[in-house]
Amino acid sequence: MTLYDKSVAGRCAFSFSFEEDEARAESCIPDYARAGVKSLPEVSELDLVRHFTNLATVNYGVDTGFYPLGSCTMKYNPKINERLAADPRLTMRHPLDDVSENQGVLQMEYELKESLEEITGMDDFTLQPACGAHGELTGMLIIHAYMRDHDPRRTRVLIPDSAHGTNPASASMAGFQVVTVPSDERGGVDMEALDHLMDDTVAAIMLTNPNTVGLFDENITRISELVHARGGLLYYDGANLNALMGLIRPGDLGFDVVHLNLHKTFSTPHGGGGPGAAPVGVKQFLAEYLPVPIVVQRDGQYALDSDRPRSIGRMSAFYGNTGVLARAFVYIRMMGRDGLAAASRAAVINANYVKKLLAPYYPPAYDRPVMHETVLSAKGYDKYGVSLLDIAKRLMDYGYHPPTIYFPHFPPHAEEVMMIEPTESESRETLDAFCDALIRISKEAQEQPDLLLSAPHNTVVTRVNETYAARHLVTSQRDKKGIG
Ligand SMILES: *Cc1c(COP(=O)(O)O)cnc(C)c1O
Repeated sequence: MTLYDKSVAGRCAFSFSFEEDEARAESCIPDYARAGVKSLPEVSELDLVRHFTNLATVNYGVDTGFYPLGSCTMKYNPKINERLAADPRLTMRHPLDDVSENQGVLQMEYELKESLEEITGMDDFTLQPACGAHGELTGMLIIHAYMRDHDPRRTRVLIPDSAHGTNPASASMAGFQVVTVPSDERGGVDMEALDHLMDDTVAAIMLTNPNTVGLFDENITRISELVHARGGLLYYDGANLNALMGLIRPGDLGFDVVHLNLHKTFSTPHGGGGPGAAPVGVKQFLAEYLPVPIVVQRDGQYALDSDRPRSIGRMSAFYGNTGVLARAFVYIRMMGRDGLAAASRAAVINANYVKKLLAPYYPPAYDRPVMHETVLSAKGYDKYGVSLLDIAKRLMDYGYHPPTIYFPHFPPHAEEVMMIEPTESESRETLDAFCDALIRISKEAQEQPDLLLSAPHNTVVTRVNETYAARHLVTSQRDKKGIG
């Protein structure tokens, strides 16, 4: 029920007791009152409070339950991040204030850059990009500008078939032609195909390692040598660095450009359309192409350097999403070097633990140890008329957010795959209970498949037509009435 449905003419949540106050209130409003709004809901304060309090409880988030969404790293975001990012010494600053007044903010950004450089093995960073895909676009524009200056024949970018969908989109937006590299039977880059494709028209290869099936590509040094020897660069999609941070550095593996999703790896909130941040790191020879301004240190002061003639230009307003950067800064400082390494180890152990418990019921796509996530198949259940979608829906009845389903599209021999990322935040008890639920669902699929076909039953909204909303957009009350 919407607030409009609860509206009763004349009911009011708030009123002014004195006439002059009412006049004053009205004098404040005219600028903001929208013309043409015929009616607003008229409800009491209690109706209003109940409406929004109840709405807030039907949401599902990592603070309410386990959220094993593969590739998206829905790990817990410590509350101290929020506490410190809300400090008025940060929130009361404005980016248009003089740099001398914003020294603290700039120092925080400078030190965050230093930490990210140390974590990734890169030489310089921009903190501007606002999400992973935006970071990819930034990195690709940097490579594009570099190649324009050094080897303009290189107009193509190689991307493995297992890559996240944003990779080809970003490369293509930056002006490159995308060429797909197939995977081999172990789930890594097919070296023979790479050898064949890597010629003097290729500007770069974009890699995710561990890749989107959760596997570490053992050939990474050979890939790096081959691509560099033939004049190409290596781009690292580090959206999910939580398998490697503190243990292995992309810079040491030979990568020239890296983006990191702070909203995945470094415990800043994501989803819901809120702001994200995906800093991009580069090796020294590319630093002059980074977006301006760059936070630098000069004579004991922090400054914004915009004097970079080869820069690709701005990628966002001001310094980037400062409030988000502050949360990641707090997280990195709290964890320290050893803490980050311990988190990566826990992420990898948790994924392998889930894989091992579930393997008899949902066979892994690859029979190899995984990194921070595991891809399991539900193909065998088609003989009971049950699809992976039905299993995922049934999981909601057990109180879990379903994992990522039908992605990645690989490998072809294991269709109906779900990608589970338990993350480092979860306890063994949580993982046991989750696996128990999936094992019970496996039995239900065989004994009472109808239970799955009509699931979920215990949720506020039950089975929905997944594409109806996208095809029949309702953007206003009027549209809603139109549909009837
Ligand atoms: C999430 C993700 C991205 C895209 O990040 P957004 O912030 O959603 O734009 C890119 N690559 C990989 C591997 C990812 O998991």
